[in-house]
Amino acid sequence: MKKDKTLVLIVDDNKQNLKVLGNVLKENTDYNLAFAISGEEAFAYINKSLPDMVLLDVMMPGMDGFTVCSELSKNEQTSDIPIIFITAKSETEDIIKGFEAGGVDYVTKPFNDAELLVRINTHVEMKKSRDMLEQKNKELKEAYDKIEYLALTDMLTGIPNRRNITNMMNKEASRCRRNGGTFSMIMCDIDFFKKVNDTYGHDTGDFVLKRVADIIQKNLRQQDIIARWGGEEFLIVLPETMIEDGVRVSEKLRESIEKDTMEYEEHKFSITMTFGVAVYEQDLGIEKSIKKADDALYQGKQSGRNKVVQAHVKLRNSF
Ligand code: GH3
Ligand code: MG
Ligand code: MG
Repeated sequence: MKKDKTLVLIVDDNKQNLKVLGNVLKENTDYNLAFAISGEEAFAYINKSLPDMVLLDVMMPGMDGFTVCSELSKNEQTSDIPIIFITAKSETEDIIKGFEAGGVDYVTKPFNDAELLVRINTHVEMKKSRDMLEQKNKELKEAYDKIEYLALTDMLTGIPNRRNITNMMNKEASRCRRNGGTFSMIMCDIDFFKKVNDTYGHDTGDFVLKRVADIIQKNLRQQDIIARWGGEEFLIVLPETMIEDGVRVSEKLRESIEKDTMEYEEHKFSITMTFGVAVYEQDLGIEKSIKKADDALYQGKQSGRNKVVQAHVKLRNSF
């Protein structure tokens, strides 16, 4: 059975009816057809393969057509399958019942072949359009997720980029404004990185950036965030962390980096990093608080590198 062909399931307890309806569809459409002689058999079939349309009789021994229809409508997997009742019951209240059960159309027997075919085709086409729309929506969502990922991720290291961590800091800052507390920010920069590039080549430099991102990430807690701020500079945000702990974390990172032997192609060497630590101060705002971490980093560079420098904080008791 070809998968892209429309599959119509016909349910009727009267085999003669199945035959008549089956022949009308066989002669006039290229649909694949399936047959069931009871509600129970219809469910058994639908559990195996989902039809694109169900033509449903109402009066059947066991489960009647209304029950089959409302069960199918309630189930997320089958709720979008259009169901057309084809029945001898022609009272208005039966028709209403059919629509209430979730049917899309109601055709009374004896039916006119041409009219029935038009009704079936209409609902098959509508179902196809809905399926296509759903598929397009899914693709659009996937494309959007990808764009968002690209916009928020540093492509070399795979860690968040500057825009991403800025968003996260804004969220953290609002949380601090609501609940009090603060967060630490560590600005760190590879020492003499230009020399790595000059001595071993740009590829080795890229490798070092990835390795550094990796080492830092492995040494942080789940809730901490590291981002590539620019070039060979990284910003780390430690939520709900006072500056003393920020310094402690930085010292641990500094040691881990210093101890690590970098091996890339035939090159074997080690590097160091300098760290500036500050906390988010509400009266300064994010930008100026970062500037303090940056100034501390600059001091560290000026005074010999491979060290951790703590920014001066006015409000120490911000918790
Ligand atoms: P300092 O200790 O003062 O930080 O000295 P430095 O050499 O690390 O700093 P400088 O700003 O002089 O040089 C940084 C170098 O980083 C220059 C730039 O080409 C290089 N760089 C920036 N981004 C990348 C990158 O993505 N890959 C590589 N391989 N190098 C990069
Ligand atoms: Mg540097
Ligand atoms: Mg730099």
